[in-house]
Formats: sequence, structure tokens, C-alpha cells
Amino acid sequence: MIEPRFIEQFRKMETPFYFYDMNLLRKTIETAKAESSQYGFEVHYALKANNCDPVIKAMIDAGFGADCVSGNEISKCIAAGFPSSKIAFAGVGKSDREIETALENNIFSFNCESIPEIEVINEIAGRMGKIAPVALRINPDVDPKTHEYITTGLKDNKFGISYRDFDEVGQLMRTLPNIQLKGIHFHIGSQITDISIFETLSLKVNAITSWFDKNGLYLEHINVGGGLGINYTDPKNESIPNFKAYFKAFNDHIKLKPGQQLHFELGRSLVGQCGQFITRVLYVKQGMETQFLIVDGGMTELIRPMLYKAHHQIVSLTSKQAEAKYDVVGPICESTDVFAKGIQVNASQRGDILAIRTAGAYGQVMASAYNMRGPVKEIFSDNL
Ligand SMILES: *Cc1c(COP(=O)(O)O)cnc(C)c1O
Repeated sequence: MIEPRFIEQFRKMETPFYFYDMNLLRKTIETAKAESSQYGFEVHYALKANNCDPVIKAMIDAGFGADCVSGNEISKCIAAGFPSSKIAFAGVGKSDREIETALENNIFSFNCESIPEIEVINEIAGRMGKIAPVALRINPDVDPKTHEYITTGLKDNKFGISYRDFDEVGQLMRTLPNIQLKGIHFHIGSQITDISIFETLSLKVNAITSWFDKNGLYLEHINVGGGLGINYTDPKNESIPNFKAYFKAFNDHIKLKPGQQLHFELGRSLVGQCGQFITRVLYVKQGMETQFLIVDGGMTELIRPMLYKAHHQIVSLTSKQAEAKYDVVGPICESTDVFAKGIQVNASQRGDILAIRTAGAYGQVMASAYNMRGPVKEIFSDNL
């Protein structure tokens, strides 16, 4: 999956770093673009998955909008060249300053998650002489059957507005002078690999839009968020996710009114497979019962295994020896700094290089400086 000429270069390079296969990124984006645009769907890239400049540029080149979860992400998107009219702003805890940034930039929509938030946006917009475009993030109570830490659309979750509040929210939409209802928004979770979950979501969306119709509230757009999962166990055989089935599921099941637009916010599925975390074996340590590969990258660079018990395939790029069983661990002073336990890797020595696959999404963006670690480098195939 990584061309031999790149591996030869890695041997001479300081590790750890993220490596991005830009050809795979462009192919992934092209596929998502083709499969969505045939139905006239709009795609926003969820910047929080990966915000490095070449990735952002590829998303802008594809004509995608952006999905932001902070004021800084909005500012970054504007500076990079996303049209402000294609920027959605989500988040349960938007600060006053972030709301002002969004209003100053005339973004596409505030995806609002609570009644008090709507009231504050109305007040700030009033003070600034603006009308805020609002999409209501609704909690549809659909179980995405993914890891509980990355579920967002169940009724006991902090995200979104629940059915109980519909009447009150409808009333606010009619009466608040500086709010304009544009649409409704959903995002039920991440790493969803069962396409039938999106069919279930579509049917819920239909039921919810009919409530808005009955109450005379017009929706210009419906935004169904992101969440399409990727293959962490066999990335080689599924380097591009099944965008065809994903968009088709919505096209087959969601009922749109004439002129109504369907929007998506894809993060992981666009960038996950193009990135790999490259790390070197520092020491092979024989423990009492376990053999450890102690590597130079840790939870400070890639925290997903430690934070969500996420599985990433780990392979040796330099050893051709028969496989042996290892715990692959980082150098950070925490016992949780473990990438994988009891996995098979080609027998390794000090200096061997490992690739931790499928690390393009929620990888570098979650890096920390704990233990005074330096910023993690990012290497792009276009520049090697
Ligand atoms: C994180 C997020 C996304 C992207 O989710 P993926 O699972 O990476 O596709 C989309 N919309 C919202 C509101 C988000 O918070």
C-alpha cells in the first residue's frame, strides 16, 4: 500500500510522522463527488477529521463546502478559500465570540443544538444587525450501532434537540426576529458501517420533515451529517469506502420536496484511508510473558486506540521475517500508551519501521504536547 520508493525514503527520515497518499485522497474525493452529484446532493467536508492544508485544498478543489465545529475552524476555512456560503457551523457549546465570527462571515447555517443557543444567536445577530440562518440539529434517537463513545444521536446524548422541544422551537422560529429557519440537521454518530442505519435515519427524517410541513415551517435544506464508516481491519481491500451504497440509501429513502436540498458532512470517510502513522522501533523488550515493540510514536501523536479502543492495522514496512507476537507500545509515561496488544507483526529489530494504517482521520488533529512532545510532522506523497 505504500510504494517501495517511499519506504526507501522513510529509512532516511526522522520518525514519527504522518504520511498521506495524495493520489488516494484525490481518488476518494472524486468518487464521493461523482456518487453524490449524480443526485444533486451537497457535500461539506468535516474539517475536524483532518485540517492540514493540502487536504483542505483538495476539498476546495472538489467544490465541497465545509462543516466546522469552532470559530477557529471557520476562520481557517475562510482563509483557505472555502466560500462562506458553504460553511455549516455545528457544536453544542458555541461561544459568543464564535457566533460573532460566524455572523461576520455570513456562513451557510448555524446548526443549533438547544433552545438557549438559539436565543443567544438571535440576541447577538440583533446586536450586529444580521439575520442568522439556522438549521435545527435534531436528535432522532437512531442507534448507529457503533462504539458508545462515538454515538451522538441517542436520546440520552448531549447532542441535538429532542422531540419534546419541537413545539417550543417551532414557536421560537416564528417569533425571533433575527433568526431564519433554513433547515434541519442530523448527525447520529461516526464509523457507521451498516448502511441500513442510514435507511432507518432516512425514514425518521421523513417523519420529522412532515411535522415541519404540518406546522407551516419551510425547510430549504435537510442535512444528514456524516458518519460513514471505513475499513480499519482490511484497509488494503477497501481503500475507498462504499460511497455508492451510502448516497443511494438516502436517495432511495428520503423524500425531498421540490427545491429542497440534501446536504452531507463527511469527515472520516474522505480522509481516513489516505493517512498512515509511520513510527520506528526503538527497542524490542522481552517482558515476563509479553514481547514489546517500543516505538517512537505514542498516544501524543495518535490517540485513537487509547481514547476509543480503536483498532488500527499495524504492519512492518521493513522486515520480511516470519511474524511474531507483540504488544506495540509508545514511549509516553502512561500505561494506556499501547497501540495494540498481542498482534502478529513481522519479527522486528531496533530501527525497523512500522505503519499504523488508516490514520488520516482523527489522527494528527488530536495530537497533544504531553511529556513536552514536539508537533508531529506530516509528509505528503506529492512532495516526496
Ligand atoms: C464530526 C462530525 C461530522 C463528521 O463525522 P464523520 O464520522 O467523520 O463523517 C459531521 N457532522 C458533525 C456535526 C460532526 O460533529
